[in-house]
Amino acid sequence: MSESAVTPERSGEVPASDAGKPFVVQRHRARRLHYDLRLELGGVLVSWAVPKGPTLDADARRLAVHVEDHALDYFDYEGAFAGGGDVIVWDWGIWRQAGSHPERAIADGELHFDLVGTKLLGRFVLVRTDGYRLGGAKDNWLLLHKRDAHAVAGWDAEDHPRSVKSGLTNDEVSSLSQKTNAAHD
Ligand code: MN
Repeated sequence: MSESAVTPERSGEVPASDAGKPFVVQRHRARRLHYDLRLELGGVLVSWAVPKGPTLDADARRLAVHVEDHALDYFDYEGAFAGGGDVIVWDWGIWRQAGSHPERAIADGELHFDLVGTKLLGRFVLVRTDGYRLGGAKDNWLLLHKRDAHAVAGWDAEDHPRSVKSGLTNDEVSSLSQKTNAAHD
């Protein structure tokens, strides 16, 4: 066994789990407005739909419904859908789990992670609610921001409506967009 296999922290390489992976939040106007938080993990975008959007307010608790994984090529999509609705890239950046086994943390229903985005910064927690364990129909979680240096009281996603990709609002993207037949939840 080589020494580097025993002591990888001395190899000079940053472990992949510490280097961080991309995340995106899409503001999606569908039947109901929601924000899709998507974390790249294991070759897919693990996703939660957050009706009121993520917040930096450490006193807030946001419902976050765990939804199906999305393909990586959806990461920076913005545009309008022929069936109605539109989506913008509301925020993006790098996420890092506060721990070493994100798949296990998600399976266990409690993920602590840091975001370095354009709008979202600091330590967040996603925690599955008891309703799911008790057989609730939806995979409901809560999203919260820890009381750290990046917390901002009263911060509301709706006060920051523009795309970090194009600078456009949902209305502007929708009016410019050629309607596609794509459909996304
Ligand atoms: Mn959606």
